[in-house]
Amino acid sequence: MNPAPSPSPAKLSPVVEFRNDVSMTFNKGTARAYTAIHHINFRIDDLPGKGEFIALIGPSGCGKSTLLNLIAGFPAYVPPTTGEVLVRGEPVKGPGRDRGMIFQRYSSFPHRTVLQNVTFGLEIHRRELDLTRDAMNDMAMDLIRKVGLAGHEYKFPSQLSGGMQQRVAIARTLILKPSIILMDEPFSALDEPTRIGMQKLIVDLWHDIHATVFIVTHSITEAVYLGDRVWIFTKGPGTIAVEIKDLIPPSQGVDPLEIQERPEFKVALEAVANEFKKVTG
Ligand code: ADP
Ligand code: MG
Repeated sequence: MNPAPSPSPAKLSPVVEFRNDVSMTFNKGTARAYTAIHHINFRIDDLPGKGEFIALIGPSGCGKSTLLNLIAGFPAYVPPTTGEVLVRGEPVKGPGRDRGMIFQRYSSFPHRTVLQNVTFGLEIHRRELDLTRDAMNDMAMDLIRKVGLAGHEYKFPSQLSGGMQQRVAIARTLILKPSIILMDEPFSALDEPTRIGMQKLIVDLWHDIHATVFIVTHSITEAVYLGDRVWIFTKGPGTIAVEIKDLIPPSQGVDPLEIQERPEFKVALEAVANEFKKVTG
């Protein structure tokens, strides 16, 4: 007789969970103590083969970057001041290649070509990944093509436009196939047409990678377009005041502007904008 399959605890753990009132106080115990976020509790369940897009909006300084940094596990953010930050059921103890961060400022190495920038993460983890140089280059070339940079492999970041540099940053992060992607105002420095192009790229890529994405943006339109759910933060000390769920997911291969012109999109946008006004008023 076959034993009943026992559920694997790892599979049942949420992708990310903040519990017991997560807070972050900088310079604790000094006259400069400042609580950036508090009372943060949420769980993002694992949706196998899908992943979720969570968009964070709120006034400047309300702790959005702090929340992303806690998930990333950067040294100053481990552990949180109160509560627990868990990734797949385990307390975050530091950064890991299961989590990739994309910043507003292009974070590529100036002295490396596009190709060398994209292979960088693989080189760092070369031993564990057991990859030859050719295999690393092949993976990078494939991704460079997917982010629309074919033909630019041997250029240096300074030879690229802002939008192209951000494509390099996206490829650098995706090469390690993180299951959690943290994007901190990734398109804020880009002009409007480039920004729309990046939104399309992210939606198209995301259909392949099925990651859970947290994206901070100051564009409510971008939040509603990209997010499956949108969190609106109060001003600092920040907390999640409102969660808007079940937004229409963006379709692959459709121009973001076309979707953003649709009546149902405008209805959703107005609802989120009204909530935003109420919270940040
Ligand atoms: P947001 O991304 O929403 O603009 P942040 O998370 O960057 O906000 O910052 C929240 C608050 O915490 C701000 O007032 C900021 O000045 C403060 N803060 C952020 N990081 C630090 C730090 N390392 N040390 C001291 N204060 C910090
Ligand atoms: Mg920020």
